[in-house]
Amino acid sequence: MYGKLKSELESKLAAIREDGLYKNERVIISPQASVIRVKGGSEVINFCANNYLGLANNAEIREAAKKAMDEWGYGLSSVRFICGTQEPHKQLEAAVSKFLGMEDTILFSSCFDANAAVFEPLLDDDCAIIADSLNHASIIDGVRLSKAERFIYEHNNFEDLEAKLKASMSRRLRLITTDGVFSMDGDIADLGRICDLAERYDAMVMVDDSHASGFVGPNGRGTHEYCGVMGRVDIITTTFGKALGGASGGCVSGKKEIVEYLRQKARPYLFSNSLAPAIVGGTIKALELLSASTALRDRLEKNTMRFRQGLAAAGLEVRPGVHPICPVMLYDEKLAHQMAELLLKKGIYVIGFSFPVVPRGKARIRVQISAAHTEAEIDKAVMAFKTAAQELGIKGSI
Ligand SMILES: *Cc1c(COP(=O)(O)O)cnc(C)c1O
Repeated sequence: MYGKLKSELESKLAAIREDGLYKNERVIISPQASVIRVKGGSEVINFCANNYLGLANNAEIREAAKKAMDEWGYGLSSVRFICGTQEPHKQLEAAVSKFLGMEDTILFSSCFDANAAVFEPLLDDDCAIIADSLNHASIIDGVRLSKAERFIYEHNNFEDLEAKLKASMSRRLRLITTDGVFSMDGDIADLGRICDLAERYDAMVMVDDSHASGFVGPNGRGTHEYCGVMGRVDIITTTFGKALGGASGGCVSGKKEIVEYLRQKARPYLFSNSLAPAIVGGTIKALELLSASTALRDRLEKNTMRFRQGLAAAGLEVRPGVHPICPVMLYDEKLAHQMAELLLKKGIYVIGFSFPVVPRGKARIRVQISAAHTEAEIDKAVMAFKTAAQELGIKGSI
């Protein structure tokens, strides 16, 4: 029987290749850091990891992870509610709640799982979920698992959000769901306006802060801190796989009854294994470091400004904003691809994004700044962009 699927897959794979959408995995032969070694190539400065705070290979976190593994073992071989909950799991849940300023927290193997878990138990077929059109794939999939009716509002369009709130007025419960930071544009959701509308129309608010937890806001608490709405967001989901150490794991943080109910009903919690002790110990340490000092998020902010200003001075267009996701707009698909290749040759590892990841004619290079970058590395990247733009004859570059 497999023969039929095999030939189908072969032609689909060929089509993906023809469309230039085939994803090759570049093999890295060093730990994650600001400078990495790529197999078959030389050292490059890495501008495409989510390693915003440079904690992915932090010595203290590595130590804490090793210690947790020695003390608590390699794995749990159980889901949480059978025999897979150790003291550190409870400690991490308390630490996340405190850091985010929420009542309680429940851990998952990933934020993808957290988003798969959160909607279905809370919202039924007489409820509504009102979602930003650019929400992350895991929110979209999570929403699909719930029986609630879906309303999609245009990205960041609050008239449209209000219209959807009006249209869903008769539903028993309504939840607005949005990314805190949108990963392709680096734009930050205006949670002030979203919370205002939610309160006016009696809806709840859920934010996925995966690209914000640890560094957005004056103390790095996230988008809700940045927007001054701490206490007004009902549910936050986030990942430990980006700024908070970069290993893996995620959570739902929110009102205590919500978390308590998810422990009873959330399927990725009931039917999937506990987080490994090493990751729990490492993430506790990451939160400890970030609670003690804002030095890393401050440095990230400075690095981001330096890069954004440098590129603007070189005549290149960066989508305006303050987030370390800096989309360098090339618009033309082929040009974005050529530019990324050229930059890699110059020792700057960046990725070009084109349709279907971003709209047609909006191709870009997404640069991600890290606190681990030195000023010299940022300047080197700016210079490489400048010369690459000149070599490719990009208008506006000087
Ligand atoms: C990265 C990301 C996720 C997935 O997080 P994992 O822990 O890697 O599963 C979910 N939502 C958003 C918005 C993300 O950026």
